[in-house]
Amino acid sequence: MKKRVYSGIRATGRLHLGNYLGALKGMLALQDKYECIFSVVDLHTITVPYDPNTLKESVREIILDYLAVGLDPDKCYLEIQSKVPQHVELAYLLSTIYPVSRLEDLPTYKDKKAQYPKYVNMGLLYYPVLMAADVLLYKGELVPVGIDQEPHLEVMREIARKFNSMFGQTFPEPQRFKTEGEYVPSLTGKGKMSKSVEGSFITITDDFKTIRERLAAAPTDSGTEGGDLPKDSPVANLFTLLKLFVSDDVYKKFEQDYKEGDIRYVELKNVLAESIYKELKPIQDKRKEFLNNEKLVDEIIAEGIRKCTQMAEETIKEVREKMGFIY
Ligand code: ADP
Repeated sequence: MKKRVYSGIRATGRLHLGNYLGALKGMLALQDKYECIFSVVDLHTITVPYDPNTLKESVREIILDYLAVGLDPDKCYLEIQSKVPQHVELAYLLSTIYPVSRLEDLPTYKDKKAQYPKYVNMGLLYYPVLMAADVLLYKGELVPVGIDQEPHLEVMREIARKFNSMFGQTFPEPQRFKTEGEYVPSLTGKGKMSKSVEGSFITITDDFKTIRERLAAAPTDSGTEGGDLPKDSPVANLFTLLKLFVSDDVYKKFEQDYKEGDIRYVELKNVLAESIYKELKPIQDKRKEFLNNEKLVDEIIAEGIRKCTQMAEETIKEVREKMGFIY
């Protein structure tokens, strides 16, 4: 049997370069080799403040982004998490074998608590258990996600091990599939690029003008000091992005300019904007085609959910039986 792959993205806004390089590039690389399920994880979406009136549209946007970047429904299944209710059932069953204290200690939970101090809900704490259930429901072995998700992968493996030791060998221990862009830094110069931090991101549907404007707002330094490239600074972040989008020669030229105290950030940002747009333009064109073919998109979603429900039911049946629900 082919290895299974699972990954999901929340419907919290347009996909950005971090999502694209950290998650989608991995999904694209794996869809040719393995049995893949790629999801819009709408149940995770609602753990932070959201608008129920736009949820449907936001989910659809992510599906369109998936298709636009090249996820191919002939090679992978596209899923909407809430449409396969076995996710929630498995999450509940798994939550009964995992300690609350471990969840409270996770950096992602602490970050979200700090970000939304008035919205610290059970779902937020429960997030990693549901995420473990997402992957284990399909017995997924590889998970293409960014490095920020590593603590969640660790929880997933702990849950799998615990379940196997209590109820017999059932789940694999999933590993993260790493990409070159596993950590795309924020344009603000602090932390990672994220949908929820204004000024931090470039989305995959931004036009050239917008990309230029967003890069123009990214802070730099005087550029005249010279020496080695700094670490953990806005300039370091710009160079990290540059490395991900331009050839080695072009990168080395700017690095050399920096060392000699002769860097022109306007030029660097222009080159970077052009390279980013060159990569995004075909994605944006393809997105328009799918946008104009609603019926096809509906069919792709329906088929993905049908197939995923079948696979999910097989696992949940096995889990119910192993846990003693045999009446
Ligand atoms: P966001 O943090 O922007 O809300 P999500 O939490 O929905 O994004 O993450 C979706 C996927 O994108 C995950 O696999 C995550 O690891 C990846 N990802 C998010 N931000 C980045 C980033 N800055 N660099 C690399 N990967 C990222």
